[in-house]
Amino acid sequence: MIMETTRCYFCNLNKPEPGYVVRKTLYKKLDSSYGLGLTGLKKTTKYYEKEIEIPRCASCYTEHRRSNKPALIIFLVTALVAGIITGFLAKRTFITIGVAVGAGIVAVVAYFFLVHRKRIKALGIKDSTEVETYLPVKTLLDDGWQDYKP
Ligand SMILES: [Zn+2]
Repeated sequence: MIMETTRCYFCNLNKPEPGYVVRKTLYKKLDSSYGLGLTGLKKTTKYYEKEIEIPRCASCYTEHRRSNKPALIIFLVTALVAGIITGFLAKRTFITIGVAVGAGIVAVVAYFFLVHRKRIKALGIKDSTEVETYLPVKTLLDDGWQDYKP
């Protein structure tokens, strides 16, 4: 079967560049077996693995990557502010680090959903994670494949 790769999947407009493909790995369970391990009964699951390359153009690659730098800055600033406040109130190093990292992660996740996704949608392109409708991926998903290891 010859794949349609004359257009970028994400904008459906530009010519894709070989270096900018998005790779998506899918898995399908083969079987599970039980054997004796060091700590008792051990379950071994065998599965198939398939990597699919999704064509992407240079401009979509740039738009997908544009959020990486702000995300890092948001993480650092939030972690720093949360760390200073918590450090002042709690005066415990491990609590301070935990709260700082936790707050940073929450801020970055919020940024990706509230700012990045919105911006990508406004541009009329798909995000790098929205690949379920790419035909070779969709065909496998419909056939019982999944995007996590069984
Ligand atoms: Zn594109």
